[in-house]
Amino acid sequence: MSNEEYKAFQVVHEGFTTREAIDEAKRCLHCKVPQCKKGCPIGNDIPDFVHELSMGNIGSAMSIINNKSNLPAICGRVCPHEKQCQGHCVMNKKGNPIQIGKLEQFIADFDTKMNLTRDKLPQKNRGKIAVIGSGPAGLTVAGDMARQGFSVTIFEGQEEPGGVLMFGIPEYRLPKKVVRAEIAKIEALGVNIICNTLVGENGITVDSLFQQGFDAIFMGTGTAIPQNMNNTPGATLRGVTQSTDFLHNVNAYNEGVIGREMVPLRTGEKVGVIGGGNVAMDAARTAIRLGADVTVLYRRTQEEMPAIQSEYEEAVNEGVKFKWETSVSEFIAGPNGRLGKCKLVTPEGECEENFDRIYLAIGSRPANRIVSTTEGIEVDEKGYVKVVDYPFGMTTRRGLFAGGDVVHRPQTVVLAMKAAKEVAASMMQYVDAIKLLQAAKIVEADAAEESED
Ligand code: SF4
Repeated sequence: MSNEEYKAFQVVHEGFTTREAIDEAKRCLHCKVPQCKKGCPIGNDIPDFVHELSMGNIGSAMSIINNKSNLPAICGRVCPHEKQCQGHCVMNKKGNPIQIGKLEQFIADFDTKMNLTRDKLPQKNRGKIAVIGSGPAGLTVAGDMARQGFSVTIFEGQEEPGGVLMFGIPEYRLPKKVVRAEIAKIEALGVNIICNTLVGENGITVDSLFQQGFDAIFMGTGTAIPQNMNNTPGATLRGVTQSTDFLHNVNAYNEGVIGREMVPLRTGEKVGVIGGGNVAMDAARTAIRLGADVTVLYRRTQEEMPAIQSEYEEAVNEGVKFKWETSVSEFIAGPNGRLGKCKLVTPEGECEENFDRIYLAIGSRPANRIVSTTEGIEVDEKGYVKVVDYPFGMTTRRGLFAGGDVVHRPQTVVLAMKAAKEVAASMMQYVDAIKLLQAAKIVEADAAEESED
């Protein structure tokens, strides 16, 4: 990687120093009815951990965070704080909210650096849990249940755990070393992670996992299949690719696994990114770091764009251009047979514009590998897994639970965590209940035997 590229992929926002963090924490009013907490999807005890930090008790602050979150170093970096905790802070009235995301990041990073906290872990004797997928939902279920005395094994299809955290979100927003450190802390809770193992292939199925003795299984497989535009003429031309493939590729390049020539983008190329979500922003901001001229093409208005506002603003600052209410009606080959231009439909009418590459970021849907190899899992017409309310989060297959994007459609990291936390709580009740039933049956059988004697 060239020096310039290396610099371009360094994190955009540096964290606080210790002094800055403690000074910021001291500004908190420790409100009686903390609005910040209401704004946090997982109900983090924000005033409490901020107060501990203001007194210099970073270990206590971390313990308070860990009561609600297994991934604070990640949430501190990628959550839309301006809409959530920070957006609700009363200090907004003075235009100067407490920078809660950066405080959370500081505490989690300090804990990692100093190897601070040691959870007092219970015996793992409440039951055996399999988790399929190691993205935010899977890691949350694993962490929550391991802390509560369950023996947890995660099955991950890729060579390394982390899912979208590792292979989707770019380095400048979420450094891989942060993800690895966070996962190492979850492993330190006693969670076993088995990589390169796709459930639904090579004879490993939900049924075979139950046969191995798992009491319940959590499916947190996300949405692995990106939507294509194959109904649009020219969509299969070389040069039209998926944003997720591009991001995966650039992450591998940043890691030194592949060379620059393997990244499908040359300096100076004209790139269009189709979509208006966070994946589109990630692809656009990554392409501009590799020296491309980037335009995002979004079919709706700016106000309707689902991307996090700060991501959009940073994309604009970095030089990404935006065309609103613009869609592509045809991809047209250039003289070399590759993509040369696109026919655009804009509010002003139809026009053609040159593009060397197009990255699609128009959504994704779940893979059906598990559903097609397991009896009894109902999905909706788009392949999202149906779950019941009682036990909360269980699929139509008994003992198999699901949560995160594979149920709720693609959302932010913290919303996948929120859903997963609720399902984890329900799985704990479910496993406790089946263990009780099993114990009751043994007692009954013993009593019957005794009366026969
Ligand atoms: Fe502190 Fe703001 Fe939360 Fe009040 S709303 S407790 S000032 S972070």
